[in-house]
Amino acid sequence: MDAATEANTQATQDAASNALPVDRMAPLSQPPVLVDRPAAQTTPLVFTSPHSGRCYPAAFLAASRLDALGLRRSEDSFVDELFAAAAEFGAPLVRATFPRAWCDPNREAWELDPAMFADTLPGWVNLTSPRATAGLGTIARVVASGEAIYREKLRFAEAEQRIEHCWKPFHETILALVERTRAVFGECVLIDCHSMPSQVPAGGRVDRPADIVLGDAHGTSCAPRIIRFVERRLIDLGYRVRRNDPYAGGFITRHYGRPRDNVHALQIEIARDLYMDEARFERSAGFEAVRGDLSNLIEALAIEFGRPGKR
Ligand SMILES: [Zn+2]
Repeated sequence: MDAATEANTQATQDAASNALPVDRMAPLSQPPVLVDRPAAQTTPLVFTSPHSGRCYPAAFLAASRLDALGLRRSEDSFVDELFAAAAEFGAPLVRATFPRAWCDPNREAWELDPAMFADTLPGWVNLTSPRATAGLGTIARVVASGEAIYREKLRFAEAEQRIEHCWKPFHETILALVERTRAVFGECVLIDCHSMPSQVPAGGRVDRPADIVLGDAHGTSCAPRIIRFVERRLIDLGYRVRRNDPYAGGFITRHYGRPRDNVHALQIEIARDLYMDEARFERSAGFEAVRGDLSNLIEALAIEFGRPGKR
């Protein structure tokens, strides 16, 4: 075995033992946001997947006290793939490529925890956000399971750069699609797609409140007919569905959902154990069935809300 082959074999073994398809890359070597666009938008639906990004910058991995697997606990893994049929049914799908542990677009731009930073934060930063205080601000201090991410304090300039290069383009992309959709169709229905960890109490029995939780910010972010339609369809597909408990909708749902302005936003949280192995971050045997059901939901929504004559 020559040196190059040996190196390749070693790299393959490392990759296999790590078992993590994490894309190690510089922060800006890939666009922070990708849009899967339909050939022609035939429906006022816009889908967003803010938490499925898994391009972990090498510098981030180096600065973290967690390994890649630990950092991935904040991901809504594979959610972009579950909703990949959107473009096929005439709706754009907006996908973040950056990970949520790096920058969370489902927060206000500047929800920061001052305890994370070595320098003093500007006065205009939201320092009293309960989410940031809990460690889950725009730049998270902890992963979703509660472990601290960093060994050392960050500089504010670091947060500023992530927000400029990730948060802002993500929201500029959504805003442009929402405005265009409303101009063409008279309304926009934004479906913000997430997944939630399942709760596994002692004894290993999986117990969770529902298969899917729909969030409309307690009836304020979308018209009742929309959440009713989605709920009915999912129940018909065999899922246990709850509304607003425990997830009523994050920043994206609350910020864009303005029914009086004909922009509706609905958050969907899917229990991860339905489609993935939560410990290994791999698609499970149930993945294709869930993806098929969600494609069915997307198609039903596209038919219900689509207006093919108004392209
Ligand atoms: Zn999420």
